[in-house]
Amino acid sequence: MSAKVFKDLTEDEISYYYTLLTEEITSYDCGTLCKDDNDGVPFCCVTENAVPLLFKEEFSLLESRSTLWSVWNPIEKDSKKLINEHDDEGTIFCKCKGVAFCERENRSISCRTFPLEPYIDKRGVMVGLVFMKEFSHGCPLIQREFDIRQDFIDQHFIFWEKLLFRRKREYDTYSDSSKSYRRDRTKTKKNFPILFPSHLKGRDYLLKYV
Ligand code: SF4
Ligand code: SF4
Repeated sequence: MSAKVFKDLTEDEISYYYTLLTEEITSYDCGTLCKDDNDGVPFCCVTENAVPLLFKEEFSLLESRSTLWSVWNPIEKDSKKLINEHDDEGTIFCKCKGVAFCERENRSISCRTFPLEPYIDKRGVMVGLVFMKEFSHGCPLIQREFDIRQDFIDQHFIFWEKLLFRRKREYDTYSDSSKSYRRDRTKTKKNFPILFPSHLKGRDYLLKYV
């Protein structure tokens, strides 16, 4: 299906998505796991560690609600390269004012979903969430799959299903990253955890597809 048949996201949709991304990821403040190694700031709240990528409509929605966000304009060569290589016109790298100014209701989708992303199986079906492997050295939560709350997984699964249906680009991105997780698994013989939503837990028929 051509990407052109997908209309752009709207601010209303983003507002709705935010209502699907309210669950706490853990039953404790996971910032306590990483703050001490990052000058008292959670690793994922330092722009240079994990640059939030916002949908353009998301940025305009947040701009209308708050002064928390601005466009990320780095001066470092490597960071500029990241922006130059970014070729999705529908999204924009942003930064927030910092953790001392965080507004819970105005956190971006990137903030709310970190450090998990959707996992798309060999059939092309989304079946769960996986940890973003590129952050395995900065985010200690990635080694603690059993700390992720089931309510969080269930709620975020609904969000991702909706988004993947709306943005082909997102579907393609996560389809590619899921393939790369499988390639790594074959190469290293090391499995990676898949966090299944309640309705897919214990479904043995899925094993041959993941
Ligand atoms: S998600 Fe990871 S990096 Fe972010 S606060 Fe929790 S443990 Fe730290
Ligand atoms: S908006 Fe809040 S959660 Fe998001 S990066 Fe900034 S401080 Fe962290």
